[in-house]
Amino acid sequence: MELNNKTIRLAADLQSDSIVDGPGLRAVLWTQGCSHHCRGCQNPQTWDFDGGAEVPIEMVFEAIDELEYQDGITFSGGDPMFQPESCSIIAKYCKDKGYNIWVYTGFTYEQLMKLSKTDPMIMEFLKYIDVLVDGKFKIKEKDLGCLFRGSRNQRLINVPETLKSGEVVLFNEDKYLGIDNFKRKKTYI
Ligand code: SF4
Repeated sequence: MELNNKTIRLAADLQSDSIVDGPGLRAVLWTQGCSHHCRGCQNPQTWDFDGGAEVPIEMVFEAIDELEYQDGITFSGGDPMFQPESCSIIAKYCKDKGYNIWVYTGFTYEQLMKLSKTDPMIMEFLKYIDVLVDGKFKIKEKDLGCLFRGSRNQRLINVPETLKSGEVVLFNEDKYLGIDNFKRKKTYI
């Protein structure tokens, strides 16, 4: 792939061992820069658009090549949607290697649809995303019981199905948690 010295601003090195940012064992790319400034944000050090470090995308590829046992890659931050072109290049690289992709953003899906009209790179990035965790973290809606997200307003969106149908389709949490199986087993106790 021709990268033409493209870079991405990151808050940290690629983390290789998260089990809380999506299903299975995941690598997490912590992007730098976020203007949502949610009250109670756990990573305010990632807000500054001049913070972190500008890293060649080639170096991110090298870190991804070193992964061995991960099920997927999560883009978090910061808000990856402020760097849609660089993120889409990395997401395509991950997808070609067979990883599923989860992305955390402070924008809602509907806001991203509007923004994509003036920035086509947002749609390009969305094309590679399996699940989008959307919306700001709202401390009043904080709920430790929510799957893979901090507050109840945030949604786990099945992006391929949503793009196909034009309506927001949610990730099937019951299926993921095996709730149907659990209920079925209970009837036999
Ligand atoms: S969108 Fe995420 S990184 Fe940005 S302020 Fe909100 S919680 Fe923090």
